[in-house]
Amino acid sequence: MFKKIFITYLSILILIMLVLSVIISSLADNYVYGEKEKVLEGVAFKANEAAQAYADGEIDNAQLTDEIDAMGYITNTKIYIIKANSSAHIELTSELADAYLRDALEKVLSGQKVYLREQYSQGFDAQMLFAGYPWKDDAGVKGAILLFSPEKEIASIVADIRFSIWFTALAFVLIGGCVVYLVSKKIVRPIKAIDAASIKMAKGEPVDDIVIHSKDEMGSLARSFNSMKEKLRKNEELRQDLIGNISHDLRTPITNINGFISGMADGVIKAEDYPKYIGILRQEARRLMNLTGEILETAKIQSGIIELHKSRLLLSAIVREAISANELLAHEKEVIIQVDMDEELSMDADPDKLGQVLYNLINNAVKYSHHKGTVIVTAKRLEKEIEICVKDSGTGIAADDLPYIFDRYYRAEKARGKTGYGLGLCIAKTYVEAHEGRIDVHSTEGEGSRICFTIPNS
Ligand code: ADP
Repeated sequence: MFKKIFITYLSILILIMLVLSVIISSLADNYVYGEKEKVLEGVAFKANEAAQAYADGEIDNAQLTDEIDAMGYITNTKIYIIKANSSAHIELTSELADAYLRDALEKVLSGQKVYLREQYSQGFDAQMLFAGYPWKDDAGVKGAILLFSPEKEIASIVADIRFSIWFTALAFVLIGGCVVYLVSKKIVRPIKAIDAASIKMAKGEPVDDIVIHSKDEMGSLARSFNSMKEKLRKNEELRQDLIGNISHDLRTPITNINGFISGMADGVIKAEDYPKYIGILRQEARRLMNLTGEILETAKIQSGIIELHKSRLLLSAIVREAISANELLAHEKEVIIQVDMDEELSMDADPDKLGQVLYNLINNAVKYSHHKGTVIVTAKRLEKEIEICVKDSGTGIAADDLPYIFDRYYRAEKARGKTGYGLGLCIAKTYVEAHEGRIDVHSTEGEGSRICFTIPNS
């Protein structure tokens, strides 16, 4: 990741500097040659004036030569003023024998300017910058003014400028490269931290919170990671609790069953006491069945297998079954369970799942009721759904616990003394939602709870 970011940013930087350097170099070249052209144009203008003065007899040959030589010396230019003959033809000396000059002269004599940046001149035995201008007076072209300037001089200026440009670009790339390196490290640091924390977590080692204060995606990733870590930690704690509870709850009835059966077999328990002990054995067996049932239901939910087998059913019959399955507990606590619903209320639902939801809600209502409390089960048909509620006047649920009671394995602090594994409401919610219904809780600590769920009307 670091390599990728670093190389990408660095490549972009190098590319930008390359393009910029090429553009600036070419602009600088054009500027230098352009300036030289302007100088040569000025020289040509002055030479034109001097040549004209000579032609008009204002100055003599020596004066013209002096003037031309002075201009040439100052501008490091070799100046030729050549007069065309009557047929506008110029015979060039051997010094000006280069082929390109013939073409150039033709153009000049036709009144055009010629400017050639780099030309090898045999006469000078060097690369020369050539400029040709027509020698003009009012009557027209009289000849040509040819200027030769050593290319070497301009080339060295251009080379100096290019060197400065490329050196600056290189410096930028080096400094930019360091900045890119630091920035890439900064981008990758939180990802590395999260990666290291994940590896530690996978090994089961304790992990500190990732501290990133930025409000960007990295900050949000770190916050999500921290909350996931917290949730996993809590889940692990709940799971450990659950394993502890389940092991204990499995061991107790199995030990009891084993003890009573051994007592019966050995004759320690007398035949006349059998009915009493068979009752206890049945109770213990039911506890085991309930426990394994809940674990199996949760395993099914966890694996995502919830198949609904819907049929037309009479709600009151399912409610009665759920109540009778809780009768023993209700009887022990002397809790009265009342039902308030239309006996004929029918609906489409999975009878087993609906029965399980009702059983769990009624079981909780009785379990968390005070001695001699009352539980009321109501059902009514609403416009688009059937609403079923189980209300008790028991311990109620603390506001802090309310958001979590449907979470798997969650048990409120107050529920610790009671049997249960924090699975009942999670199962209920999953089954209600499988029917595309909703489940809600209204509870005030110390006053009781009312848990309602809906099943779409049909
Ligand atoms: P449990 O097996 O612990 O009852 P549940 O998933 O059925 O697990 O319920 C989760 C928690 O919600 C319980 O531990 C208890 O604290 C709270 N709770 C559920 N129903 C009631 C109720 N009717 N009255 C008070 N507390 C309840």
